[in-house]
Amino acid sequence: MKLKSLTINGFKSFADKTEIDFQPGITGIVGPNGSGKSNIIESLRWVLGEQSAKSLRGSKMPDVIFAGSATRAPLNRAEVEIEFDNSDRFLPDQPDELRITRRIYRSGESEFLLNGKKVRLKDIVNLFMDTGLGKESFSVISQGRVESIFNSKPEDRRVLIEETAGVLKYKKEKERAEKE
Ligand code: ATP
Ligand code: MG
Repeated sequence: MKLKSLTINGFKSFADKTEIDFQPGITGIVGPNGSGKSNIIESLRWVLGEQSAKSLRGSKMPDVIFAGSATRAPLNRAEVEIEFDNSDRFLPDQPDELRITRRIYRSGESEFLLNGKKVRLKDIVNLFMDTGLGKESFSVISQGRVESIFNSKPEDRRVLIEETAGVLKYKKEKERAEKE
C-alpha cells in the first residue's frame, strides 16, 4: 500500500487547500523553521484517527483549525484527506484507491469518511489495527518523540524495537500463556 496524496484544508497553518502529491521518488519535505513541516505530519496522524489534542500541540481538538493570522481571519472548519494506493490489497476488504477524510468544526463536532461514506472513528482505528500504520505505531515519530527515545532506558527502548519489529504481541501472548 502506498501513500498517494494528502490534502490539507484549514488545518493549522494551512488556511488554503494544499495538496501534497507523493509521487514515486519523494523522500522528504524540507522548509525553514515554522513553515509547517510538523503540521503536515500532524495532519497525517490526525486523519488516521489521532485522539490526543496534546500530542498535536494543542489543548483541545478544535485547536487544529486555522486560528487566523495578521492578514487572515480564523476559519471554522479543518479538513484533511488522505489517499492510499491499495492495489496490492494490503487491506484486503478495501478498494484499489482508499480515501479517508476527517473534518472538525469549531463547535467540536467532527466526522470521518471512508471512501466518501460516513464512518465512526472506531472503523478507521480497526482498519489500521495491526498493520503498523495505526496511531499507536512507530511509523510516525514526531519531533519531541525522537529525544524521548534517545533518552529512554534500554528496557523501554527495547519495547519500542520489539513493537516496530512486530514481535511484541507474540511476547505478550507468550507471557499470558505461561501464566495460565
Ligand atoms: P521546525 O523546523 O521549527 O520544526 P516546522 O516546519 O515543523 O518548523 P510547524 O511546527 O509545522 O513548523 O509550524 C509552526 C507554525 O504553524 C507556527 O507558525 C504556528 O503559528 C502555526 N500554527 C500552528 N497551529 C496553528 C493554527 N491552529 N492556526 C494557524 N497557525 C498555526
Ligand atoms: Mg517541526
